[in-house]
Amino acid sequence: MLKKIDHIGFAVHSIAEARVFYEQVLGLTCEGIGEVAAQKVRTAFFRLGETCLELLEPTAPDSPVARFLDKRGEGIHHIAYLSDDLERDLERARQQGCTLINPEPVAGAGGKAIAFLHPRSTHGVLTELCSETGPAGKEAKEEIL
Ligand code: ZN
Repeated sequence: MLKKIDHIGFAVHSIAEARVFYEQVLGLTCEGIGEVAAQKVRTAFFRLGETCLELLEPTAPDSPVARFLDKRGEGIHHIAYLSDDLERDLERARQQGCTLINPEPVAGAGGKAIAFLHPRSTHGVLTELCSETGPAGKEAKEEIL
């Protein structure tokens, strides 16, 4: 079952430049910067109540986020829902005919297990399902701060 909006992802060219807006204009605090090697992105998280804002900066030209920036420029990249049973929610999406970008959960930022649903089957929104525990069933732990 989905529990809440976990975070909203924003594609940016540079975390160093974009964080100034979130810190100086919105007054938020960066809780950590990490890297997800598999997705070729650097991430920065800003907590806001029960939800986080996630800035995504590509670390390579062939990063999916780099391709997004080339096509659409900076902006909202994805929305992520926290699931208390990722395998089951993913299976329901599959049964309903959803196109899964990740048929199985993969490692995401902050030690979470994540899986993306393709925007073509979610009415245009890149949708991430995530859970607090990693793909190997290990407890979530903080990445590089
Ligand atoms: Zn995300």
